[in-house]
Amino acid sequence: MTWRFALVIDPAASDDPRTDFAATFRVIDPSAPALSVGELSTQRGDGIFESIGVVDRHPQELIAHLDRLAHSAELCDLPVPHREQWRQAVEVVAEQCAERGESVIKLILSRGVEHGPTPTAWVTAADAADNSAVREHGIRVVTLDRGYGIDTPARAPWLLLGAKTLSYAVNMAAIREAKRRGADDAIFVSSDGFVLEAPTASLVLRIGSSFVTPAPNGGILHGTTQLSLFEHLQELGHETAYETVPVSALAKADAAWLLSSVRLAAPITAIDDAELAVDRELTASFNQYLLSPRA
Ligand code: PLP
Repeated sequence: MTWRFALVIDPAASDDPRTDFAATFRVIDPSAPALSVGELSTQRGDGIFESIGVVDRHPQELIAHLDRLAHSAELCDLPVPHREQWRQAVEVVAEQCAERGESVIKLILSRGVEHGPTPTAWVTAADAADNSAVREHGIRVVTLDRGYGIDTPARAPWLLLGAKTLSYAVNMAAIREAKRRGADDAIFVSSDGFVLEAPTASLVLRIGSSFVTPAPNGGILHGTTQLSLFEHLQELGHETAYETVPVSALAKADAAWLLSSVRLAAPITAIDDAELAVDRELTASFNQYLLSPRA
């Protein structure tokens, strides 16, 4: 990944009345060391983040990403991010992205330095990987047990399952396991047999004429890309649904996709060695929509 730009933010209190936050931003060299050794994001993965897809310098679904950052902060007992401050930071960073093509902006809010007074916050910009082949040719996935039941998130909110925390070691381990099994990616399933999400993406199934995704009931992240695609599908008159999806439904799917902010819609070509047809035209129309400027 080529890092283009990075900005450290001095986080404002959520009720800070300022309208211009330029003075709270400090540009840093993205290739130079920047964090203190006492930083809790690196010591404990204690913090939250967002990855925003950027097309021709336009940050996609910024409102939904800022909403989710605030939701994650609440779940993690982090100070409420000042929405306008973060919006302005993204605006500044987006200007440094490639004028043409795809980039990725990351927002990071960590608990800060151990015994330190404030959280640490920063925003980065990098060129996105070329995902055109995967969008066209698709991915093979395997189902992997997430190790908890569908009701665990409600019983154990301290597991932070609906927050986008920096603790992604488990998610990365799942992708490595999928690769060991000859696939490209994974779909997590609950230990009592319900479909959840991929380690870095949401799952959408087409069953007959309906588009279905597992309900974000606390155990999974509510994907901004899935949310946006459902709005688009509804505008086109398609039926969409959030459901508690049993694993057996995977075999009934006529088509399936993993959706995420940077890779966008990756069609699934096989689930656990059961081949799945790819609707190339529909997938291309999804990605065309997802690459168009979205709020
Ligand atoms: N679920 C998980 C666990 C993720 O990490 C991600 C994105 O990184 C998603 C779903 C998809 O979210 P989005 O579409 O907002 O990128």
